[in-house]
Amino acid sequence: MAKRVSARKVKIHRQYTYESAAEALEVSIQTVRGWRSQGLAVLDGQKPHLILGHELKRFIESRTPKTSRKLGPDEFFCMSCRAPRKPYDRMAEYVPFNATRGRLVALCESCETSCSKFVSRKSFEGLARIRTIATRETC
Ligand SMILES: [Zn+2]
Repeated sequence: MAKRVSARKVKIHRQYTYESAAEALEVSIQTVRGWRSQGLAVLDGQKPHLILGHELKRFIESRTPKTSRKLGPDEFFCMSCRAPRKPYDRMAEYVPFNATRGRLVALCESCETSCSKFVSRKSFEGLARIRTIATRETC
């Protein structure tokens, strides 16, 4: 049941039947049918029912384990821990590249390795309300 399904096997411009999706993803047809009740959108106006590739991919990505989920706005992916981490002491530094984009740099709360990620200035300003962030201007 805990079998990992790789969204990379899905071709987004293809349409799948339950059978072809099951074959492409190496799962049972019952598994694919079961995904429908878990939120997978199926085109059921005709037979056979079809699943659009991009919808299948979205669905699989949405159910991948938490360790590989999208990072939250205040999380960094630590290369040492190989996991999403919050910044040490809730501090991060925003290093602007230009008027709209920059890099957030922080230390991992677990191992204190330096982590960074690209952010838009807008999302950084959203973060600034909840955390202390030192801003350094480029010169
Ligand atoms: Zn770490």
